[in-house]
Amino acid sequence: MGWLTGWLVPLVLFTGCTGGGTAEKYSTHFYGVFDTVVEIQAYAENQESFQRFAESVETRMRELHQLFDIYHTYDGMNNLKTVNDQAGKKPVQVAEEAIDLLSLYSEWYTKTGGAVDPTLGPLLAVWHDYREAYQSDPSQGRVPSEEELEAAAQLCVFSGLEIDPEASTLYLKHPGMRLDVGAAAKGYAAQLAAEESSKEGVFSYLISAGGNIIASGAPCDGRRSKWAVGIQQPFAETAGQYADVLYVTDCAVVTSGDYQRYYVADGKIYGHIIDPTTRMPAEEYHSVTILGEYSGISDLLSTAAFILPYPESRRLVEENGADAIWIFSDGRIEATEGAVQVMRDLGGATAE
Ligand code: ADP
Ligand code: MG
Repeated sequence: MGWLTGWLVPLVLFTGCTGGGTAEKYSTHFYGVFDTVVEIQAYAENQESFQRFAESVETRMRELHQLFDIYHTYDGMNNLKTVNDQAGKKPVQVAEEAIDLLSLYSEWYTKTGGAVDPTLGPLLAVWHDYREAYQSDPSQGRVPSEEELEAAAQLCVFSGLEIDPEASTLYLKHPGMRLDVGAAAKGYAAQLAAEESSKEGVFSYLISAGGNIIASGAPCDGRRSKWAVGIQQPFAETAGQYADVLYVTDCAVVTSGDYQRYYVADGKIYGHIIDPTTRMPAEEYHSVTILGEYSGISDLLSTAAFILPYPESRRLVEENGADAIWIFSDGRIEATEGAVQVMRDLGGATAE
């Protein structure tokens, strides 16, 4: 894992950031949670402070990964796979973070008119299987039949999810129902991990978990007062090609896109974000990036905004006090006022 991937700038005295102390930049990364790499950068007093913070972020994200996992069970704990396995049988007691996540989903199911729905599991599983078949053999790129999608959709019954916060249980009332929290689990876990980890001696940090970024405070290098966050150019031929760069502090930046998790059938791209009304991958945009206060909510919002038609999508973002950048499938870019202000290319923003 290598905590000493830490580096970088020589020790600097930077009063604005550290209150007169010294700050050094450290970074590390780890794998094995939410199917992605998690990168942490921080300005800290010393390596011990950084290490304490980073280890705690990692430990917490691993725990939450296990809790929200729908593919594996783990000894000594009930998780969302346990809930799915007990569909139509009985309520399952789970840790309160799972209750909180599903409660958050319920709230946003209503706010998004059902665009994000944690009970879409059966439908998402169909697309997941077709994507996996393609990944193991690209000649196997096929599209599920309408009958198959229809049959799966019959098992997606939001009203069949019972959340009992008092008993701390989740219950799927009908056999075959299945939770899928892929639209927000990663962002929510990153948020909890960041909130709950020790900040003693840590002045500012950036956590990046596969399209979910949490920027807290400002870099302490005496040169800039903003973190730079690149928005990927969808389907760029080389890594690190950005459609734009955002300069931010104290915010969550979450992107949903069709350019990383997708497959191809008959020359057409099928993404992993499914519109529940058509049961097909949403295809109006290549990506939607949300800038918001909380990474959990921003993650839900990024998936919902990716599904909804543009006017509705924009209304949802604005009504909820967030900002967003839409990259349409034809390459056109739209952004809210607040987003433009922090964009390097579109808005002329700088890191200072
Ligand atoms: P990523 O996981 O790539 O960061 P998202 O946050 O947009 O991207 O989440 C996509 C995931 O959300 C899918 O892999 C799937 O698990 C889930 N999902 C897809 N469509 C929906 C939907 N309409 N409602 C709820 N969850 C969805
Ligand atoms: Mg999301």
